Amino acid sequence: MERISFLTSNFGKYDTSSIGSYMKIGGFSALRKAVTMEPLSISDLIASVKVKGRGGAEYDMGRKLSQARAVKGERKVVICNADEGETTTFKDRELIKNDPFNLIEAIIIAGFVVGATDGYIYMRAEYSCFRPLLLNAIRQAKSYGFLGENILGKGFDFNIHLYSGAGAYVCGEGTALIRSIEGKAGRPRMKPPFIKQSGVFSRPTCLCNVESLSIVPHLLLDEEQVYARCGRGDSIGTKLISVAGNVNKPGVFEIPFGTTVREIIYELAGGVQKDRHIRLIQFGGASGKVADESILDTPYTYEDLRAAGVMVGSGGILVIDERTSVLDFLRMNQEFFSEESCGQCTPCREGNLHIKLILDKMAEGKATAEDIRLMHKIARVMSMSSLCGLGETAQNSLLSAMKVFPGTFAVGGAEA
Ligand code: SF4
Repeated sequence: MERISFLTSNFGKYDTSSIGSYMKIGGFSALRKAVTMEPLSISDLIASVKVKGRGGAEYDMGRKLSQARAVKGERKVVICNADEGETTTFKDRELIKNDPFNLIEAIIIAGFVVGATDGYIYMRAEYSCFRPLLLNAIRQAKSYGFLGENILGKGFDFNIHLYSGAGAYVCGEGTALIRSIEGKAGRPRMKPPFIKQSGVFSRPTCLCNVESLSIVPHLLLDEEQVYARCGRGDSIGTKLISVAGNVNKPGVFEIPFGTTVREIIYELAGGVQKDRHIRLIQFGGASGKVADESILDTPYTYEDLRAAGVMVGSGGILVIDERTSVLDFLRMNQEFFSEESCGQCTPCREGNLHIKLILDKMAEGKATAEDIRLMHKIARVMSMSSLCGLGETAQNSLLSAMKVFPGTFAVGGAEA
């Protein structure tokens, strides 16, 4: 299979504690180029290669930046969402760890495009070990004049602040994340007002994922259009994915879109442990949908995965082998959401709990057909009436499993 390093091209090539080392491999050339360009031509470039938000929402990144620029308001903000709380998703961690200066450069460029004065990195509590690395990168970028006032003599003022979360999954949701930065309890709020108009400290805010931002400096320097020539269909370029579960070599890999799921699992991740059979594969973290082995020859693209009933989402792939039943997997997933629900709205707070109770009843062989119908109904109501993305997507694995593994939900005849 084709191997390519685009997003990971700086990995291992410089001393991540030294801005001088980063500049020796061309670091901050993208920013130097960016400040000579029209901001909207940068967002157009990103839009032309159809970069979608890599945090899971899949929103068009170029459009997001141009919309943020168009919002009227003072002291705009760019937030880099480094919360990466989806289970089985750990690809942003690699970008922070192996290429921190590229991330800082990317946030500054995004700030220039949007017309922002401040950038915030919101990093999950579990990544606190990377705080010194990022704080050092911010400090050095400032001492070299890439942050602060009148950056590169272009009259552009911008600073970056680093915040750490306290470990709540729901703080990956934009409004909860913003409340957490503001020092409030990290609970989502109703929209509108939308973040782009009224985000952190009521300032217009553009919220982007680590990977989405990290692509930008590479794109600006991609004279040979390597990125645009990768991929398949509307899924252009490469994607960082993390593979976890019952595979021989779990890890983070950069793939060109169009690589098949089989190549990802069997070539990159070393195949299933002891050549066991795959029970299920979950795409996009705990809130992602599941598939069975029939998805193996599907190309990993936004369109092909969607047609196969799953989604790219956060870029995490979880492989579960024959030792775990579909039911036990769902119970584990459901327990996660019952614990992570912030409890603010009824469909999510009660729905997650009741689905968990019915799954437990199924495991005991006591569930009735009416219980299963009720569980299905609760899941659908949750997806339509919850306040935030957690409640809207928590039942994705259940609803997809009901389609892919109907035997598991046959009363009296539950199978693995
Ligand atoms: S959907 Fe769940 S996590 Fe989101 S606000 Fe409602 S209770 Fe909280």
